[in-house]
Amino acid sequence: MIEVAQLARDEGIVLRTQDHAETDRIAVVLTPNHGRLDLLAKGARRMEQAAGAALDVLNVVKIIYYRRRSGLHLLKEVELVRTFPGIRSDLDRATTALGGIEWALALIPTEAPDERVHRLTVEFLTALDAGHPPRVLALGYVLRLLAVAGHRPHLDGCLSCGAQDGLTWSPERGGLLCRPCGGSGEAVSPRVWRTLGAIARLPLPALARLRVEETDLERGEALVRGFREAQLRR
Ligand SMILES: [Zn+2]
Repeated sequence: MIEVAQLARDEGIVLRTQDHAETDRIAVVLTPNHGRLDLLAKGARRMEQAAGAALDVLNVVKIIYYRRRSGLHLLKEVELVRTFPGIRSDLDRATTALGGIEWALALIPTEAPDERVHRLTVEFLTALDAGHPPRVLALGYVLRLLAVAGHRPHLDGCLSCGAQDGLTWSPERGGLLCRPCGGSGEAVSPRVWRTLGAIARLPLPALARLRVEETDLERGEALVRGFREAQLRR
């Protein structure tokens, strides 16, 4: 049976590109309406500068493509809509952006439309581009991605009884747990978990106003990494 591919239009963020065969490129584009799309751009590496360069990572592009029921969709046209020059020109921001995108690629399934993930990612890149503190922003982005993916860590007291004291980090149970409720992991100081809670709650653009101590930030990053690893093992 011959499959009749349907022509579709979208706009999204290029999350990853990779060379394919002699002249092709595969691009992963995050769209609001169709989620994460894996697209085959035939002859992309031979294309004129404008079209080829539009597919660079972190660019916002308009795309026209043939939807296929299985495998890669076929990219027909691509047009550059927006770049983030403030990210490109700063190694720290660029590294942070790519680190965030790696989390997104790991957490977002293909072909699962979720407008929130797209909106969050645009917010994250826009704030980073504007020069907001990268690490707090990245932590806020990752905590939201985890929540959208169904792995929101409990950061508001003990997850079992609500206690506010003597809390430990129990990633395999879902977040903070007090010792009487069986928490046996490493202790988390109130300042650290309240900071993490605020980062998880505040809108990403508002995080620039949050004052976070360097040591608390490092601790928070380590807790979230541990949480993610525990979720992956489940
Ligand atoms: Zn408890």
